[in-house]
This record gives sequence, structure tokens and C-alpha cells, in this order.
Amino acid sequence: MKKIIIAIDGFSSCGKSTMAKELAKEIGYIYVDTGAMYRSVTLFALRAGLFDADGNIQREELRDRMHEIDISFRLNPDTKRPETFLNGENVEREIRSMEVSERVSPIAAVDFVRAALVAQQQRMGREKGLVMDGRDIGTVVFPQAELKIFVTATAEVRAQRRFDELQEKGMPACYDEILRNVQERDYIDSHREVSPLRKAADAIELDNSHLTLAQQQEWLRQRYLEAVGSV
Ligand code: C5P
Repeated sequence: MKKIIIAIDGFSSCGKSTMAKELAKEIGYIYVDTGAMYRSVTLFALRAGLFDADGNIQREELRDRMHEIDISFRLNPDTKRPETFLNGENVEREIRSMEVSERVSPIAAVDFVRAALVAQQQRMGREKGLVMDGRDIGTVVFPQAELKIFVTATAEVRAQRRFDELQEKGMPACYDEILRNVQERDYIDSHREVSPLRKAADAIELDNSHLTLAQQQEWLRQRYLEAVGSV
């Protein structure tokens, strides 16, 4: 069967990565979570003290240190899921913390950060056979992707999902704080100058507010089969 690129974009915590990961596993594609890449740069900047007391990024210093950041994904042999590594260290858990979530959207609005990560993402897609999720995959990273999905759900549903996920992992979580963070990120992500979050003209929209995981997965599987021409 021909290999394609599947671009899945949408708002924070709308279940993009869950659906992308499941599909990739099922059809034997590589899965890339681009949010994890922006989160890794954010973690690097936090550790390096590149935010001032008001939360502003020290841009020049970050620019000078971009070459020190190496982000990669490795498959966890037990879960068979890819995990994120920053300079050789597994940061999969740490990049999901509230501290990183609160700082990631301003980092993702920095032009040279986007340029570096988009270039790396495009290299990952050279061989196709890839499911990538993010905010600008169908519009900027792979405008030629054979299948583009744009996922939405209400902010409340998304905050609840993120809350459940953090609780399940035993990480601290407060629903109101998460809802505020989800709304703030929606705003910054859709209003930034570089690659704002928007639906590509040829993307198929999915509002999954009221879908079960199984229904969502089935919907995506059908879109994949249509895209590769087997239905
Ligand atoms: O997908 P996730 O919520 O983990 O992404 C974290 C943040 O990274 C988003 O809120 C957004 O600011 C940024 N992002 C982006 N472009 C992408 C993926 C993520 O700007 N392709």
C-alpha cells in the first residue's frame, strides 16, 4: 500500500496525539508529536534560566544556544510508544508538567525556534509513512500531506481530558488552572504572527467533544483508508 503523510492539527488537549499514536501503531507508521518538541525547547529554556521574572524570554540568549538543543524520539520497548529525549535524557514526563505548559506557547511563537523545529520535522517526513500532530502541520510543515485532519472540542471538554490524564499519571492537577491554560494557549496559538493555528483549506474537520475514543479511532481509520485509496 502506498505510504502517505498524515497531518493532524488542532487545539491543545483535543486528543490529537491519542488518535495519531493509535493510528500510527495500527498501520505501522512513525508517529511524531511536534508539541513535545516545542515543550522540550521550553524545558531547556527553563533549566537554562532563559525566562526573566516577568516570564519574558531572553531571545538573544536562546538564539545563541539553539545549537545546544538536540531533540529525538525513541520507542519505549514496553509500551511500544515513542518517548521524547532532550540531549539524550528522557524528558517525556517532565515536558508535560504545568510549568512547561504555562511557558510553551510564547516559546512556540518565536520565529527562529519554529524555523529550527519545522526543518527537523520536514526531514523526518522525507520517507513518508508518518503521522505528525501539532498546530501547523497541514499548513506549514507538510502543505502537500495526502491526509489532513483538523480536530476541535470545547475548551471545557479538553481541560477535563488533560485533568484526567495528569491525575492518572499521579501528577498535580487543578481543573480551573488547566482550563485557564488551555484557553490562554488557544489564544496565543491562534493569534501569533508566525504560523498561527488555523485549519488548512483542504483539512477534514473533526469535532470530537462527544465521541468515544473508539468512535474517533474508527472515524480516523476510515479517512486513512480513503486517502490511500482502498475504499
Ligand atoms: O500539542 P501540545 O499541547 O503538547 O503542544 C504544546 C504547545 O506547543 C502548543 O500549545 C503550541 O503553543 C505549541 N505547538 C506549536 N506548533 C506545533 C505543535 C505545538 O506551536 N506544531
